[in-house]
Amino acid sequence: MNAQIIDGKAFAQGLRERVAERTAQFSERAGRVPGLAVVLVGEDPASQVYVRSKHKATVAAGMASFEHRLPAETAQDELLALVASLNADDAVDGILVQLPLPAHIDENAVIAAISPDKDVDGFHPVNAGRLATGLDGFVPCTPLGCLMLLKDRLGNLSGLDAVVIGRSNIVGKPMAQLLIRESCTVTVAHSRTRDLPALVRRADIVVAAVGLPEMVKGDWLKPGAAVIDVGINRVEGKLVGDVDFASAAPVAGAITPVPGGVGPMTIAVLLRNTLVAAHRNAGIAFEA
Ligand code: NDP
Repeated sequence: MNAQIIDGKAFAQGLRERVAERTAQFSERAGRVPGLAVVLVGEDPASQVYVRSKHKATVAAGMASFEHRLPAETAQDELLALVASLNADDAVDGILVQLPLPAHIDENAVIAAISPDKDVDGFHPVNAGRLATGLDGFVPCTPLGCLMLLKDRLGNLSGLDAVVIGRSNIVGKPMAQLLIRESCTVTVAHSRTRDLPALVRRADIVVAAVGLPEMVKGDWLKPGAAVIDVGINRVEGKLVGDVDFASAAPVAGAITPVPGGVGPMTIAVLLRNTLVAAHRNAGIAFEA
């Protein structure tokens, strides 16, 4: 058997085109364009790349992009004041503070300061709570992108066994919540998990969000499993995932490559979340 490759790049492109069409309709109806504010503190090179791509994608979708670049030594109070002004700005539908923040700033305090209705990253505790309790809210972009790819490939996920490796607030936990919502039987693994290969071997769906290059091996997989590789690791100048693609692809039923799998979905979903926020803020119904 050889896995079908899940082309996240093509799926993300399609999603971005649909978002752009609906942005044009929204703008005509609301008399204004959706706006996304991105805040970058400091000069982390990877964050600069992400912020630049988010800006380009936002403008390409027909939305307004407000970029705020602050020096690394910015005081927490100054950052909180900026977030408060963005919360109050009617032109801003979505606010994203690029993580990680410099060590002297309390990330949780900043996330909590963002209005939950503008929290298009879905990291605010209110949105995490909404996801956990089945209420409408913003869902973190990367796991929502993973779910879109899984549903596109597998259709109904009800009753499937899923293993999520990683329990971060950004990827692992919301991914598990989303799969529970789809009626999967979900196991969440982490660094203290015993006998991870045995758990993975039971799973119809494996989502790897660990940050260890090529950790998940092909002989851990149930033949035919759908494998979603969230990992982005740079090894000798090359990007590799958390799954050992060479040994996994012959066993899996479907698998995302790195790069070109989950990565492109994150920004596409961010645009979608911003469009949803704009509809809500303008009091216009958004039909998914
Ligand atoms: P974190 O470092 O926050 O979380 C990693 C998780 O992996 C933790 O829960 C940790 O467990 C677990 N873990 C560590 N070692 C092991 C092990 N040996 N066995 C099992 N579990 C282990 O990372 P993120 O969730 O933020 O990101 C995960 C990966 O996804 C990274 O490679 C990151 O670059 C990538 N990423 C990609 C995105 C994209 O757009 N494609 C977006 C976000 C992240 P414990 O909790 O016990 O420490």
